[in-house]
Amino acid sequence: MLSYQHIYHAGNLADVHKHGLLSWMLAYLTRKDKPLSYIETHAGRALYDLSDPSALKTGEAAQGINKAAAWFGADHPFTRVLTRTRAAHGVQSYPGSPLIAAQLLRPGDTMHLAELHPQEHAALSFAMSPYGAKCHQRDGFELTHSLCPPTPRRGVLLIDPSYEIKSDYNDIPRHISRVSRAWNVGVICLWYPILTSQSHLPMVQVLHQQNPDGLSHEVRFPPARPGHGMVGSGIFVINAPFGLDAETQRLSDCFKTLKA
Ligand code: SAM
Repeated sequence: MLSYQHIYHAGNLADVHKHGLLSWMLAYLTRKDKPLSYIETHAGRALYDLSDPSALKTGEAAQGINKAAAWFGADHPFTRVLTRTRAAHGVQSYPGSPLIAAQLLRPGDTMHLAELHPQEHAALSFAMSPYGAKCHQRDGFELTHSLCPPTPRRGVLLIDPSYEIKSDYNDIPRHISRVSRAWNVGVICLWYPILTSQSHLPMVQVLHQQNPDGLSHEVRFPPARPGHGMVGSGIFVINAPFGLDAETQRLSDCFKTLKA
């Protein structure tokens, strides 16, 4: 039973963290004239309307992208994607990770996106139809294992679960270990929430043990509302592109300006 819907959280500070770094990585990797594979295990619907009552109910975008857009200069790939999305779909639109990737990838690159929820999958297929992405209504890890190593070999995997199922925290290191053995050159990115319960800690510890060269970056922010459990956002990257650590440092400084 899937109950999580990203529209309630689209454009929040965790999205700013994840989408800012994803945009930076894809812009960097597409500078080289060689094709890329892009795979997502948990795609969502790709295009969000921040004036939707569900988004307004939580108000998370108001504290997220509406405040943080200024952290990214006019030439930053995240700004370019935001501007292009808003020009095409209206000023209240917000791109999810598949649409960010689609706008940064090139015609020879390939995209495979998994989304299990029937309505989210239908919306994803519709939003992605101009881009030739393959949208699978299938478990994201099952899809990824069936594709790895992908063709072309260079590429990015984004793993962005909703952590609705508590066993996700235990299962993810095993999935990542299997993927990275099959696809040793892939840039593998895992997003995770930092909750007051600290549920992420054992998982991150195992990831570091399994991948001593992995880059992890965490930011903290005030909870979206009093008592809300999410107080930060983390990303763990295997085969991080050159220069990503400087971009993470820049973002850390931006997040430190947020007032509780
Ligand atoms: N990556 C998206 C973005 O940044 O724009 C947000 C994705 S949202 C956090 C997680 C999505 O995963 C939800 O839309 C949910 O329906 C979907 N989902 C949950 N379990 C899944 C599974 N086992 N396989 C594929 N998708 C799943």
